[in-house]
Amino acid sequence: MTDFTYRSPKTTVRQSPIHGKGLFAKQALAAGEIVAVKGGSILTKQEWTVLERELGSAEIQLSEDLFIAPTRPEHREGNMVYTNHSCDPNIAIQGQIVFAAMRDIAPGEELTHDWATTDDLDYTMTCTCGSPNCRRTITGKDWMKPELQEKYKGWFCWFLQRKIEALSGCNSAPSSPGYDDNIDSQVVRDDL
Ligand SMILES: [Zn+2]
Repeated sequence: MTDFTYRSPKTTVRQSPIHGKGLFAKQALAAGEIVAVKGGSILTKQEWTVLERELGSAEIQLSEDLFIAPTRPEHREGNMVYTNHSCDPNIAIQGQIVFAAMRDIAPGEELTHDWATTDDLDYTMTCTCGSPNCRRTITGKDWMKPELQEKYKGWFCWFLQRKIEALSGCNSAPSSPGYDDNIDSQVVRDDL
């Protein structure tokens, strides 16, 4: 297998109780440590839509129209990060292709991220992650849920973070007058 994706030497891919193959910690990982970096080809939405029928999902969306994904069946495994979804994840995306540990991780733990932080797709899936806070049903639009936007502040991919900020900019209520605060900050500005 040619690896297009980087997976930390402290990790291993094996059968997962959640689904199919999963990525696991072989050794302890520290909070913030890079766990994996997604590799592949950069494809337009149109190109990936055609390929996905043959290859199955193995992509990360980078922008409205760009995806990083495999282009050939024999490249699929080497492109995969193998992170299953969990509603109580221990790794998260930073930027668009880097996955880092959200907390200290013990050897043997499966490395999972919440797909709400990377996906903007049309799917509905029954979740079998087994965590106490499991959402039972997850969708490709979970990033739009306010409670998840709050829970994963700083842990969304760049592409979705920009969409969330654009939405909250449109919906934000007018700020309260707060005259006293304004006077105080005016004084500070004058000092400068
Ligand atoms: Zn779940």
